[in-house]
Amino acid sequence: MVSESNLHNISWLSGDRPYQFFGPCSAESYDQLRTTATGIKEHFPNTIFRAGIWKPRTRPNTFEGVGEEGLKWLVDIREEFGFKVTTEVASPAHVEACLKAGIDVLWIGARTTVNPFSVQAIADALEGADIPVFVKNPLNPDVSLWSGAVERIAKAGISKMGAIHRGFHLADNKPYRNAPAWDLAVQFKTDNPEIPLICDVSHITGSPGLIPHVAQRVLDLDMDGLMIETHCNPDKALSDASQQVTPAHLKLLWDNLVFKSADIKNKEFQNQLETLRSKIDRIDDSIVELLAQRMNISEEIGVYKKQNKVTILQVQRWQEILERTLKSGKAMNLSEKFISTLYHSIHEESIDKQTNS
Ligand code: PEP
Ligand code: MN
Repeated sequence: MVSESNLHNISWLSGDRPYQFFGPCSAESYDQLRTTATGIKEHFPNTIFRAGIWKPRTRPNTFEGVGEEGLKWLVDIREEFGFKVTTEVASPAHVEACLKAGIDVLWIGARTTVNPFSVQAIADALEGADIPVFVKNPLNPDVSLWSGAVERIAKAGISKMGAIHRGFHLADNKPYRNAPAWDLAVQFKTDNPEIPLICDVSHITGSPGLIPHVAQRVLDLDMDGLMIETHCNPDKALSDASQQVTPAHLKLLWDNLVFKSADIKNKEFQNQLETLRSKIDRIDDSIVELLAQRMNISEEIGVYKKQNKVTILQVQRWQEILERTLKSGKAMNLSEKFISTLYHSIHEESIDKQTNS
């Protein structure tokens, strides 16, 4: 959790929310950047133009980025189009090269955030610099590792911090390239309310078809911006060809999003909301009361089990409970995932109560 008072809000970003981080996965040539930037500029003049210069690829001998030469291209794009420009840094040498070239914004990639040694080395290289830094979530679903990386960079004196939700590597990512695990993004936002959080929709979806649904979810969760990989000719892209969109496609996607505000301005709607919310509060009180009653019975059972030297865990009984509740949940339109998570948690608490009874 980051609570240093030197953390600003998002006023250092230009333009209105949601912030727009558009541009190709990788810088491939000056012409490719320029053609892409021309298409983006037509519709999104406040873009923060992204392009990877050093590309962390799974295997060697694939395109690993154009290296330092690309920094100069990015600066030229900024001068010509008036965009802020941003790229990924993965080592102190990358940070130094970017600071020297005058890049506007840096981001730390998912493969770097997993490693506190690397993040600390980058933080040390940033000491004394005044540049915004965004930290992507680590590959593994660990929110404290993500917050910890933000904290390391903030401690180096970087006040303009941001975070990027780019999805996680779970046992089953389908249908996504990286599972969004929205609950973890919500957890990060709740733990770090002062850090602007944007979503890298492209690395979650892995394909343009899923972008509308994922991007809308990002807006519904009141995140601060969207990163969408945009390429003048996605089919010919040297990295992440299958997930990039053209600037024209991006405009179409954008126009179909519904933009929302967290502020409630309409009085009538506010009254309706308050009525419904007080109903929910009453139901929540009953739920907690029922759970407490259920746990009291568990404790009673625990005492009998102890007296009769019977094990606390009765696998067959637990399977029966889960089957019954999944079935009645399904009949009432509650998802299997929800009932299963809920009952695993109830069962765990019940075992704890019986252990201590
Ligand atoms: C990227 O943004 O191009 C990238 C490599 O992202 P990630 O670190 O999320 O994999
Ligand atoms: Mn990419």
